[in-house]
Amino acid sequence: MTRIGVLALQGAFRRHVEALEALGVTGVEVRAPADLDGIDGLILPGGESTAMSLLLGANELTEPCRDVIAGGLPVFGTCAGMILLAEKVLDGRSDQVQLSDVPITVRRNGYGRQLASFEADLEIAGETEPFRAVFIRAPKVEQVDPAVEVLATVDDDPVLIRYRNVLAAAFHPELTPDLRLHRVFLLEC
Ligand code: GLN
Repeated sequence: MTRIGVLALQGAFRRHVEALEALGVTGVEVRAPADLDGIDGLILPGGESTAMSLLLGANELTEPCRDVIAGGLPVFGTCAGMILLAEKVLDGRSDQVQLSDVPITVRRNGYGRQLASFEADLEIAGETEPFRAVFIRAPKVEQVDPAVEVLATVDDDPVLIRYRNVLAAAFHPELTPDLRLHRVFLLEC
């Protein structure tokens, strides 16, 4: 049976595990390096990327996560998880860790105070029905390398991207009952 790790140090990991289980796969909460053994994919949830950075270090998970991602394991980063995967982070903390070098520039909390949280109906490449997306203090993707595939945008800003083994969303697909994006991710795993 497919086993998908969900980084479970902080943030909205539980809802991802529930989404995976609704799709008939095992969600493995990742809190220690050994939890990465034998997984077929990894989800980096939303939450607070600076707090997650500290906890990744404290739990000796930074290098092991980098290694599995660099090794080609399918990864789905949502919101803070997208920040952890980006090559360049604006308005981050100097000690914020990167788990990959996806060639995008993201600005933390880039939608500003007024738009700190909002919802949008996205048109997603390959999907016929719109996807209701919940954004919470979301990162704004300010630059993307041409090698990055943009799957959905809001006002011309990319909000769902794919690059090699990485799928990343600026929003929280685990907070709505629509499981299509988890299904898309599982096709890679
Ligand atoms: N603003 C958060 C951060 O910088 C991300 C918010 C979220 O994951 N909902 O990590």
